[in-house]
Amino acid sequence: MRAAKPSRAIFQTLRGLAGYQDEGPPVVSLYLDLRKEDPARREAARVFVRARLRELRAARELQGPYEESLETDIRRIRRSVEGRLAPGQASGGRGLALFSSAGRGLWLEVEAPRAFDNQLVVRQVPHVLQLARQAGVFHGAVVCQVDSRSARIWEFAFGSPEETSAFDRPEIPGRHAQGGWSQMRYQRHIDWQRERHLREVAEAFVRVADQHPGARLLLSGPAAALALLRAALPPRAAARSPREITLTQTADLPEVTQVVLQAIEEQADAEDLVKVRRVFEEALGSGLAVTTGASCCQAANAGAIEELLVLERLVTYGWRCRACGLLGSGRPAAACPACSGRLARCDLTARLAEKVLADGGQVHVIARGAPLEQAGGMAARLRFPV
Ligand SMILES: [Zn+2]
Repeated sequence: MRAAKPSRAIFQTLRGLAGYQDEGPPVVSLYLDLRKEDPARREAARVFVRARLRELRAARELQGPYEESLETDIRRIRRSVEGRLAPGQASGGRGLALFSSAGRGLWLEVEAPRAFDNQLVVRQVPHVLQLARQAGVFHGAVVCQVDSRSARIWEFAFGSPEETSAFDRPEIPGRHAQGGWSQMRYQRHIDWQRERHLREVAEAFVRVADQHPGARLLLSGPAAALALLRAALPPRAAARSPREITLTQTADLPEVTQVVLQAIEEQADAEDLVKVRRVFEEALGSGLAVTTGASCCQAANAGAIEELLVLERLVTYGWRCRACGLLGSGRPAAACPACSGRLARCDLTARLAEKVLADGGQVHVIARGAPLEQAGGMAARLRFPV
């Protein structure tokens, strides 16, 4: 069993990636959809990688002094992806994110529980938006499937899901009668055994849940067993509002994965709506929130953003000062208003997200959220008013 807390580790990873300065050799960021149950998608990922790496190789001399770094990136990305797509390769997550810059000593492979959209970006800094989105939705999950005499506990860290522990207690009898004992005593004995079983399951479940403080807790099983299990949970686990899902008795890893991801997605959508509404209320009330692209830029420049909310797949163009990193929306002016440095057009959404992460804030990528759509796709909760 791992002692680390992967859901927290992924945020550290994100912060580390967002902290790269934009000077020196380029960084190749690659996102892939590697769902094993879908051979067509895996083939599409293979074709995508080949084509994009070929283009990259053709353009590598444009990198001048960094040609060698990029050449190494291309080679090792190809090797890693081909290895994962080889026939019989069964391990790994459904999504893969790779970050490579040989010249800067960066090589990072992140296996993710959900598929990414295929994307390859070469820039001076890592492209973290897709990873941020998944980390925000996912947080990990701990799942307990239980009945009156068996149980399985699954752990979904940021990476491949795994079965952590299993209980099977054939000694706890079913409903058939057995000689020797009076029916009532016999039934009481069975009840006691079942309760003890569920208490032990609850203890094991909480042990795993404690290792994943941000993870969602999910339970599956007959109502009577779940009631006993819930009753045996300590307040700190109950406070995490374990939700019920429906798994079949013989659910295998792919089935569990599918049900869990769907449950998480539904829960995340509901939470997103609440989050968006709260930020808009806050903007009207305390002023500790902003809801336009321009004001998000201003707040990010001041290091004031606690949490940035952006709509999924939002691409907004703006500018960034090459000298001091100042961000702005709209068309670039002649020179930076802060330092008179040169301004360059940029993907403002991605740059804002990176700035917020690098400053220790959070980025939350939202799938749907009506107020956010109407407001232009961006809003932020602030640490202090700007
Ligand atoms: Zn500047």
